Amino acid sequence: MQSTADSSQAQQPLINHPSQLPAVDKLLLSEAMQQLRQHYGLDACTQAVREVIGELRTRVLAGEALPLDHSQMLAMARQRLEKRFAPRLRPVFNLTGTVLHTNLGRALLPQAAIDAVVQAMSAPANLEYDLEDGGRGDRDDLVESLICELTGAEAATIVNNNAAAVLLVLSTLALNKEVIVSRGELVEIGGAFRIPDVMTRAGARLVEVGTTNRTHEKDYAGAIGDNTAALMKVHCSNYAITGFTKSVSDADVARIAREHQLPSFVDLGSGTLVDLRDWGLPHEVTVRETVESGADIVTFSGDKLLGGPQAGIIVGRKALIAQIKKNPLKRALRVGKITMAALEPTLRLYLHPEKLAQELTTLRLFTRKAADMQAQAEQLQAPLQAALDNAFNKAFVVETAPMTSQIGSGALPVESLPSHGLKIHPASGKQAGRQLTELEARLRALPRPVIGRLHDDALWLDLRCLETSAQSEWLEQLPGLARQRKV
Ligand SMILES: *Cc1c(COP(=O)(O)O)cnc(C)c1O
Repeated sequence: MQSTADSSQAQQPLINHPSQLPAVDKLLLSEAMQQLRQHYGLDACTQAVREVIGELRTRVLAGEALPLDHSQMLAMARQRLEKRFAPRLRPVFNLTGTVLHTNLGRALLPQAAIDAVVQAMSAPANLEYDLEDGGRGDRDDLVESLICELTGAEAATIVNNNAAAVLLVLSTLALNKEVIVSRGELVEIGGAFRIPDVMTRAGARLVEVGTTNRTHEKDYAGAIGDNTAALMKVHCSNYAITGFTKSVSDADVARIAREHQLPSFVDLGSGTLVDLRDWGLPHEVTVRETVESGADIVTFSGDKLLGGPQAGIIVGRKALIAQIKKNPLKRALRVGKITMAALEPTLRLYLHPEKLAQELTTLRLFTRKAADMQAQAEQLQAPLQAALDNAFNKAFVVETAPMTSQIGSGALPVESLPSHGLKIHPASGKQAGRQLTELEARLRALPRPVIGRLHDDALWLDLRCLETSAQSEWLEQLPGLARQRKV
């Protein structure tokens, strides 16, 4: 038997001994590798070829006989390189029905924000530079007056997200002091954000009042003592307490706080700058309403209903905001120029409410009519059915179906928006669960992964977030469902 495999041989020799594997250098310096070396560089190519040869050696030693020539080995190396150099953060199709999906990056930015971000990334900008007098500026100044105009607040400051806003406010107002919160509001907001834990980390001591379902004015008033620093309200953003309930309004908590010369603080969570009822959507309390209720400090997110970049916005009384800005933690939690660049034009869209539902991407998605999605579903049903028939040998049936979208990110947790989409269910009940898992995996493995929702023995694709501008890209990749290897 020959001891080396040579790609010039017409017939593919079976490799069944490690000595038949080519040397790393031989593959690496081959003509065919030239292009990959140029594209990915010598180091990465060396690593990829080493890994391929190493893997083949292991397989041969385990007794496999490999019908591989050099070009197939190069193809394996190319695959590794492509995978290693492919971006990990990728665009997907969010057909989950949850518009502000935290795991999928929440709000999509309006075009004006996207343009501003590109500019800010590619040119120096007056982030902290006063163009009037040439002196040092404050990055909050770029948006503060706009935020005050839109919310009725006296002052504002921006941090990295709303969790940071809550941390900073508590650490400023209540370091080593007590903050009074209703038991019904000691919430956990996804991941690891729990109000009691944040409070501890901020150096504040939590004083719980009332019970899970009922809290009264006298509970707040009775808990106020010498060491009380503030009264806090947390907006019920991802749950609802119903039945025999009682809570104290923001206005009443603010009044009790004022009567005791204490500040009141509302963590609004999502917050919105407009009355969503104007667009036929359910009502969510606005930042302005909360400010007008008398709350001294209000915090909310930039990338929930507001529809902008990830940010935490703190608004309230001038003296308190000044105090918050002096906290050394502010420096650790401040936002960068990319966030500022995105936030400013997003906020400015609110100055023109008539155009908001067109220009603000999230609002445009929220206000899409179910009939729109229905027409779209009817258009997409046949091509999807054909692609699935081809890829899965007629194992699935595609139907158009009404569904309900959710706003997401904890905003309006119990409200839903009538929508329409495609419902895919297995043609036979046999192995339905396994088939659906396979279907989901193949959709996820498309060049731009499609993320749906498994529910009721079917895969639901809610079309609310598939705007017509992206529809052809969605359609064009469907044949790829058949080309994938079985998972
Ligand atoms: C979402 C939310 C937060 C956390 O906001 P992030 O912007 O995700 O950091 C805090 N509090 C409430 C009430 C929320 O709804």
